[in-house]
Amino acid sequence: CGIVGYIGKQEAAAILVDGLEKLEYRGYDSAGVAIYDNNKLDVRKYKGRLSILEEHLKNVPIKGSLGIGHTRWATHGEPNDVNSHPHVNGSGDIAVVHNGIIENYMKLKEWLIEEGKEFKSETDTEVIAHLVDYYYEGDIVKAVQEAVKRMEGAYAIGVISRKHPDRLVAVRKDSPLVVGIGKGENFIASDIPAILKYTKEVYFLNDGEMAIIDENNIEILDELGRKVEREIFEVTWDV
Ligand code: GLU
Repeated sequence: CGIVGYIGKQEAAAILVDGLEKLEYRGYDSAGVAIYDNNKLDVRKYKGRLSILEEHLKNVPIKGSLGIGHTRWATHGEPNDVNSHPHVNGSGDIAVVHNGIIENYMKLKEWLIEEGKEFKSETDTEVIAHLVDYYYEGDIVKAVQEAVKRMEGAYAIGVISRKHPDRLVAVRKDSPLVVGIGKGENFIASDIPAILKYTKEVYFLNDGEMAIIDENNIEILDELGRKVEREIFEVTWDV
């Protein structure tokens, strides 16, 4: 129900939790983060309030400065720890957060299971992680582009990969997503308040568009993979 993402030099955990707090008004039943730390993706996700996630992160902190976070409003699969986001592929190299519904997830799931992918959750979202994995041949952007072609329904997604720790990939269709522009750091979020503390400059993504987000660069591509020039939107209000 709410997405945030961070790439930069600061510690991602605090920024993600802070952003998720600002999205609390959207309602949620679970919360989680995936953060790149020490050559692996560290995933923490729990049913219940954000404070439960916060407490766990306090007890066993994660250091990295690339991450994605999520608050879930369950549509497919009951609220529990396993069904919470982020979801990962089999090797745990690819992590995905998702708002919305993948309408054709059952068909995709059956096919991916035949292809040898092992599912852990009951969510529609988990197919995205395995789809990206299926299409991954060394280029995470290409893999997400191919995966998205197979997905029907509504989605805003954030994707990170252990093999590409310099990059955050986001796509949206019929679910909201903004890209926050920082200095040496960038953000994604379902809604502006989540990142307003850090930047007042944002890009809005149109339906079908993808953002390829590095520390110092943001590239927006349309559905056909063509580069899009987007004007910066200056937020004039305060948190
Ligand atoms: N359909 C997904 C799920 O049930 C995402 C729900 C959401 O937008 O929070 O896990």
